Amino acid sequence: MTSRNPIRTKGFRLLTIAACTLGSFVIGLAAARYGMGGVGGIPAEIVGLSMAALCAFAAASSAASFFAGVDESVQYVYHETQHDKLTGLPGRQAMMSKIREAADRTRSTGSPVFLIDIDINRFKSINDAIGYSNGDELVRAFADRLRQVVPVGTAVGRIGAGEFALLYQDEGGAERVDLFVERLLDLMTKPYRLTTHLQSINLSIGIVSLPKDGFEPTRLLRLSNLALQHARGSGVGGWAVFHREMGEVADYRQWIEAELNGAFERGEFSLHYQPQHDLSSGRIVGYEALMRWTHPARGMIPPAEFIPIAEETGIIAPIGAWALRQACLDARRLPQDCFVAVNISAVQFMTRDFIAQVAAVVAETGIDPSRLEIEITETAMMQDRDRAAAILKDLTAMGLTVAVDDFGTGYSNLSYLIDFSFHKLKIDQSFIQRLETDASTGAVVSTIVGLSRALGVHTIAEGVETEHQATLLRAAGCHIVQGYYYGRPAPLSVAAVEQKPFLRAVS
Ligand code: C2E
Ligand code: CA
Ligand code: CA
Repeated sequence: MTSRNPIRTKGFRLLTIAACTLGSFVIGLAAARYGMGGVGGIPAEIVGLSMAALCAFAAASSAASFFAGVDESVQYVYHETQHDKLTGLPGRQAMMSKIREAADRTRSTGSPVFLIDIDINRFKSINDAIGYSNGDELVRAFADRLRQVVPVGTAVGRIGAGEFALLYQDEGGAERVDLFVERLLDLMTKPYRLTTHLQSINLSIGIVSLPKDGFEPTRLLRLSNLALQHARGSGVGGWAVFHREMGEVADYRQWIEAELNGAFERGEFSLHYQPQHDLSSGRIVGYEALMRWTHPARGMIPPAEFIPIAEETGIIAPIGAWALRQACLDARRLPQDCFVAVNISAVQFMTRDFIAQVAAVVAETGIDPSRLEIEITETAMMQDRDRAAAILKDLTAMGLTVAVDDFGTGYSNLSYLIDFSFHKLKIDQSFIQRLETDASTGAVVSTIVGLSRALGVHTIAEGVETEHQATLLRAAGCHIVQGYYYGRPAPLSVAAVEQKPFLRAVS
């Protein structure tokens, strides 16, 4: 559906003004003829003609000013509904019209146009961390810079909270699209000076090409977003051009969603356990429970592929509750002096009755609460800080321990940590992987250890794969380590008989 500004046509306006003018002229003439004689020696015809002309002029002016008023209000309503209030850029609907117009043009000319979808990574977390008014300021600054960076006449729109789209044509002396996008990425990720602080961001960009990838705006936006998700999945950000296999990835997602239905009832989930070693004693102190889905036809499907979809569809609620209960039951078969760590998704954590659920599981399984550790990501805690703080307090009061998972990957303001009750910071494995090759990562790890000391909590390093990494971590003062070097996740039957100390378990 194309949205056009419904302003009256020129012909219609001229006709209306002419009709008003002529009508008033005739009425004025008649009034002068029948109503009065000459004035002050001026003949009655001249007076009549002058009055008729004045009437006609008044009528023409009021008709013209009527149209001007209509124009103004139509323009106002049109602008308000089509434009994003915060940035003044066209909104999603208006952008769809522009894509449709571009599609029509390229259909007749054949020269390609690129739809470029730009998304600020983790925009919601940034917004939560810096507050909504700073978030708005960031979006405005981003939009202003984007307007300056694109060539004059380029259609730019805001199509989501932190998502923008533009239509780019690289012919006629313009920069090639890949060079343009590289430059765009470089300029748009330079830090933003907000009233309160300097804000850094990462971007993911997806590109589709018209006419190659189609004409239909909704589909084109979906495909550019698929490319964008692909770019995001491959690291901190960057850009990707849509290709057909990405559509297959989307089909795979749909397949997972369909297959997840009933998988729980069919008993396809299980837990594997990965040991955590205390660096000073070399002893295994705990096991992290990691979920596994064995599909009857496709075999093992990794959690990174199904957990996000389970979260979106809500299936995480029953499977997450099951994992918690099962891990508490399994703890009976693990050494008494070891705890069991359970991953809790943000969706589960924020459920109204989460605390009641945990209390019921603890009571029912009889696990000593000090043997149950909850792993919750930094990003999940940031979704609703006040609620998260209250939930963490309740968990701690029950005698459980809490570890902040994937620490260092969120855009959190460190000051929030003071408000939260937790016992461990789990340094994300991306830092551990870079430890041996990048000196500054060592400094980051030491800083996290220092921070945890100041907060009176312990540090765990995950994803430790080599002896050298372990040595560096020990030197940095890290307390607990976990990773393939010490033992891979394994079914309970294997994990339970695992020996200590320093066993490099099943691979
Ligand atoms: P995570 O909580 O960060 O778990 C650590 C992941 O790193 C696990 O992947 C583990 O197998 C893997 N890993 C352990 N040591 C090494 C190593 O030395 N090198 C490398 N490269 N990887 C290592 P996994 O089992 O595939 O789980 C992926 C993610 O899925 C988990 O990340 C967690 O976020 C989620 N997940 C797993 N089980 C559950 C669960 O029961 N509930 C929820 N909500 N999420 C879960
Ligand atoms: Ca974890
Ligand atoms: Ca982790």
